[in-house]
Amino acid sequence: MHDYTQHYIDGAWVPGEGAVRDVISPSTEEAVSQIKVATKGEVDRAVQAARKAFHSFSQTSVEDRVALLGRIAEEYKKRVPDFGRAMAEEMGAPVSFASTAQSLAGLAHFGITAKTLKDFQFSERLGNAHVVYEPIGVVGMITPWNWPLNQIALKVAPALAAGDTMILKPSEECPGCAHILAEVMHAAGVPAGVFNLVQGDGPTTGEAISAHPDIDMVSFTGSTRAGILIAKAAADTVKRVHTELGGKAANVVLPGADLSAVLPPTIQGVLANSGQSCIAPTRVLVHKDQMAEATQVVKAIVESVPVGDPLTEGAHIGPVVNKAQFDKIQSLIQSAIDEGATLETGGTGLPTNVNRGYFIRPTVFTGVTPDMRIANEEIFGPVATLMTYDTLDQAIEIANDTPYGLSATISGDPAEAAKVAPRLRAGLVTINSWGPDSFAPFGGYKQSGNGREGGVYGLKEFMEVKTVVGAP
Ligand code: NAD
Repeated sequence: MHDYTQHYIDGAWVPGEGAVRDVISPSTEEAVSQIKVATKGEVDRAVQAARKAFHSFSQTSVEDRVALLGRIAEEYKKRVPDFGRAMAEEMGAPVSFASTAQSLAGLAHFGITAKTLKDFQFSERLGNAHVVYEPIGVVGMITPWNWPLNQIALKVAPALAAGDTMILKPSEECPGCAHILAEVMHAAGVPAGVFNLVQGDGPTTGEAISAHPDIDMVSFTGSTRAGILIAKAAADTVKRVHTELGGKAANVVLPGADLSAVLPPTIQGVLANSGQSCIAPTRVLVHKDQMAEATQVVKAIVESVPVGDPLTEGAHIGPVVNKAQFDKIQSLIQSAIDEGATLETGGTGLPTNVNRGYFIRPTVFTGVTPDMRIANEEIFGPVATLMTYDTLDQAIEIANDTPYGLSATISGDPAEAAKVAPRLRAGLVTINSWGPDSFAPFGGYKQSGNGREGGVYGLKEFMEVKTVVGAP
């Protein structure tokens, strides 16, 4: 059992004072790690340390901060196997995927941010004024379990680059990566108080961060439900609230698309990480004339992906994160059956090759209509739902008919797809692929959030803008 009951505050590990909480492995259903839920007082100590450190860290030179990001990347690389194992044990990402896609995506943000910082123009002239970018201050960061390290790196790297100091609270479902990252920060020589880690849950630790009067900004990635609670808790102190929230991405398969060429890379987004990605393009919209062929192609892709132990190397998918998610996905699959969708493969219950854990049978539904529950709620499991359209206008209408606007995928001829992209109300549109580009902004329209992460947009998110009028 991994002991993550300490917090990292002011450059030192301190024993937690709050309630003990076990992290349950989704493949064995046994406790693998333990945390202590940081209290309001512990959050306050971390905030004081960050506030104290801000005075000097905000004055460091760009060269020093570029060098610091470089040292962090070096230390991070040494710990990739540890990150991979922590993810596999705690949230069930297969270790091969966790130590490549998951861990290397996080690592890339430190390198990209260092490059962005080197080139960044901290001052520009507009009219008679100088516009100057400055660090925002003390940032509270609250992150999810599904891409546990990547979502942390997307905040920590630009906040350090900007000259901010920070308090991170990772997900209570997957605390190991953040603990290891704090060790990385220490080894890289991040000055005391600049990076602080408190372990804990949402209602106690997350709420204390959101409402804290001496935190200048809360940067949150997670569900829309929690994002709303965080924004409300932050409202009394008028701090900046940056949110990266849920999604319900469509995959618009263009009429006449070469299905066997374009579907494999986009359906991959429904299966990778057991479907637990905010941008998973699960609503697959297919022209009525191609539905029979699309069903065969999607079914073959989904059936070719085995389910297996996340600690075993290889290309399989693991369990979903916890019992609550398992139960929710089972209920969504059952709801689709009850509401009249056609189950093409998969379904409720455990896959035949496992007898415990929160494994979901990779599932394909056809005959899904926009009014069904499964077409509206985030599934967060390896479930593809195929929906028919008559005209491209209708497909675009269905794709946009969601309160979310994080991402959308288009499968088909790239030139035709590029004409459709402006009509999709989402912050990210991917053509014949499903992942973002780490140099480019990533963030949601509508109820998927209000900010952007990644590259220069991500850096600016963690800065204040000052206008100086009258300077020579
Ligand atoms: P979640 O909202 O349950 O939890 C996320 C974090 O918020 C955790 O650290 C949790 O402890 C904390 N939290 C929960 N309630 C809180 C409260 N009242 N006050 C303060 N903090 C609180 O989300 P999750 O289940 O960990 O992650 C999955 C969700 O995250 C999905 O909806 C997914 O789409 C979304 N997500 C979005 C992005 C993005 O970039 N837009 C990326 C990854 C995940």
